[in-house]
Amino acid sequence: MSDAIGSPPRAANPALLTLYEEIADCPACELARTRTQTVPGVGPAPAEVMCIGEAPGAREDEQGLPFVGPAGRFLDQLLGGIGLSRETVHIANVVKCRPPGNRDPQPEEIAACNPFLERQIAIVDPLLIVTLGRFSMSRWFPGASISRIHGRPRRFGGRIVLPMYHPAAALHRGDLRPVIEADFALIPELLEEARTEGAREPGGADEPSAHSTPVAAAAAAPSAEQRSLL
Ligand code: SF4
Repeated sequence: MSDAIGSPPRAANPALLTLYEEIADCPACELARTRTQTVPGVGPAPAEVMCIGEAPGAREDEQGLPFVGPAGRFLDQLLGGIGLSRETVHIANVVKCRPPGNRDPQPEEIAACNPFLERQIAIVDPLLIVTLGRFSMSRWFPGASISRIHGRPRRFGGRIVLPMYHPAAALHRGDLRPVIEADFALIPELLEEARTEGAREPGGADEPSAHSTPVAAAAAAPSAEQRSLL
């Protein structure tokens, strides 16, 4: 995959390319009226790790790529700190078009865009999904508080879902930076656990209603940072 910041995403995977083309023409919600362009995602497919944020911002809307502003630079640092990069991780958002003024995506917009995300997850087929922020977290953990469940992975069918704060949160609240870094540090062990478990259970994390179970590697007890937020 050769996508790079500054150029629109071009997927090497034929199924992903078809998906991106469908998204580019999508008129299914109000966000189609105000977007500059769609921001479908970036990164390889398949990929072991998939990060899912909430919605494109102004820079993403301009460039057609997710996480290209200050939060994106922090995400790159976080990935680099655990030996990963945009070349190895698939990055997407819950909605593919920018909400005007960076407002929160509305429930009807998230619902309209959900079929695209479902297909994207199926094509990327990740072992580990990292939800960044409360909107992607809510897909698998409805009604949960991010301050209580961040860094506590659960298995949904054949995938592990690890909820985290959105990297942008650390730009506004410096005290969250070490919390996010600590949660990211869980990824290598979780990934190793997912790899060594081998055969997957039926059903995937693209099925949020699937029965979920705690993940042994990191779910035993809250970290000091987590306890401070409980
Ligand atoms: S946010 Fe999703 S559903 Fe709405 S117009 Fe964009 S691609 Fe279509």
